[in-house]
Amino acid sequence: NDSFLRGDFTAEDEKELSLRPATLGEFLGQPSLKENLSVFIRAARERGEALDHLFLAGPPGLGKTTLAGIVAAEMKAEFKATSAPALDKPKDLAGILTSLTENSVFFIDEIHRLKPVVEEMLYIAMEDNEIDWVIGQGPAARTIRIQIPHFTLIGATTKAGQVAGPLYSRFGISFRMNFYETADLEKIIRRTAGILETSVTPGAVARLAMSARGTPRVANRLLKRMRDFAQILGKSGDGTVTEKIVEEGLGRLEIDEYGLERLDRQILATIISRYNGGPVGAETLAISVGEAIESLEDFYEPYLIQRGFLQRTPRGRMVTDLAYEHLKIEAGERSAD
Ligand code: ADP
Repeated sequence: NDSFLRGDFTAEDEKELSLRPATLGEFLGQPSLKENLSVFIRAARERGEALDHLFLAGPPGLGKTTLAGIVAAEMKAEFKATSAPALDKPKDLAGILTSLTENSVFFIDEIHRLKPVVEEMLYIAMEDNEIDWVIGQGPAARTIRIQIPHFTLIGATTKAGQVAGPLYSRFGISFRMNFYETADLEKIIRRTAGILETSVTPGAVARLAMSARGTPRVANRLLKRMRDFAQILGKSGDGTVTEKIVEEGLGRLEIDEYGLERLDRQILATIISRYNGGPVGAETLAISVGEAIESLEDFYEPYLIQRGFLQRTPRGRMVTDLAYEHLKIEAGERSAD
């Protein structure tokens, strides 16, 4: 998939780890989450205990991994990170759990993808700080319990609904992350521009924030592409990202003023033209637009729903009046040029 706006982590993001906030103070937006979390962190630190297990749900690119790192830093604790698909066997999980230091933070991304046997081991680890370990084979096999250090599990997921009840219930703290307010995205863009030493006009910041899908990772990525456009196409010669550059750049990337890209519009147009506005099942829709169901459900739909273009109903996905309106405006503009 080559979608430009996807919130997924890419090699380019990897290179720009410097953009990642390191403290709760640098983490912009999400005010109520931050306030509550800082209370829980301070309380745990004062007691000299590990923070309770923390569950973070929300679309990709909203800062779940960043927050996990911040929690470790604020707790002055060691940080280990993995992702559920990497924990193929109980042995893989046991290896990490037994190597943790006291009160450290252990982050598991995509926690809805844990295998049941691995999940089983995690339950006991979370609750009793022990793991069951089978030694020997066949009739001689026996299970021993091994003590492990106290730790904070941070589990992140884009699909809270797919996390098993028994696992979810073992998290003492749970946050559902929402898309960011435009004003917070503006702050994030200004912060990133500062780190990248790129000058951006206020009008450009505002326009970019509007098109960033409520997602910090998208905001950062858009800014970097606009920096490229400014450098190569800019008339001023000093690489300033102006509103005009942003207009042109977003146009070239086919991103509209709502932050919708071509595939978003294709999803809406497909539901309208082929399924009479819906309802249509997610799988059928994914096939119709030629996109993986995962990215349809994790990335495209949440934002279309949040912006009021799409509805999820028990019988499938349906477009709203706003979608008709938006696409019609577009069609009009296209026929005019
Ligand atoms: P997730 O784990 O939810 O997919 P990440 O934690 O990887 O998201 O965040 C993506 C990028 O967005 C980070 O590298 C960081 O630069 C930026 N970012 C995320 N949240 C914030 C925030 N609240 N303030 C500033 N930058 C942020």
